[in-house]
Amino acid sequence: MPGIPDALALFGGQFDPFHWGHAHVIQQLLPRFRHIVVLPSAHPPHRAASETPFHHRFAMVQHATAQWSAVTVSDYDTQHTPSFARHTVRHFHAQYPGISITLVIGSDQYAVLHTWHHIDTLCDLAQFFVVPRDTQPRTNPHLPAAAHITHCTAPPYPLSATELRADWQATLVPPSVADYCQAHGLYA
Ligand code: ATP
Repeated sequence: MPGIPDALALFGGQFDPFHWGHAHVIQQLLPRFRHIVVLPSAHPPHRAASETPFHHRFAMVQHATAQWSAVTVSDYDTQHTPSFARHTVRHFHAQYPGISITLVIGSDQYAVLHTWHHIDTLCDLAQFFVVPRDTQPRTNPHLPAAAHITHCTAPPYPLSATELRADWQATLVPPSVADYCQAHGLYA
């Protein structure tokens, strides 16, 4: 996978808040993909919606990723209820005809990937790039045989938004995100 010039990575999540673990994921993508699209979720089909409004989460991702020209932040999710991954992939295939699309997920999501809606169809449409988070297994025997999975070999960067919402520490998010949160009275 390294060096593929016409590859697009889709990195979705709640980003509630965007933290250094998310930045670590993007650092792994930068040498591998020409385009990286970050998709804050508005109506996640697999979990409860975030309590932090979309516009704040979108703005945090924009601030945190502004330094990287390969990264764009998409509000695609606001127009689709709920937004299933296969629809998202089809949308970006139409935007970038002929491009190879890879969905980027942490290993916690990989462990439950077989439960994603219409996973067989999704595996025909996209590849997956799995970033280790903790001690989750590197195999998922429940996935379709056609699933194309690449495991990132970088060491885990153990940090979650759940921890930050429970115990806010501004040093665990990029400075631009910390400033945004302070200005808008988020989390603290
Ligand atoms: P929460 O604790 O609220 O579930 P989170 O920290 O997992 O949040 P999300 O926005 O839900 O963050 O994650 C978006 C994507 O980024 C998911 O695929 C998730 O697995 C991945 N991810 C989040 N944090 C990390 C991390 N520290 N290392 C690798 N992947 C991560």
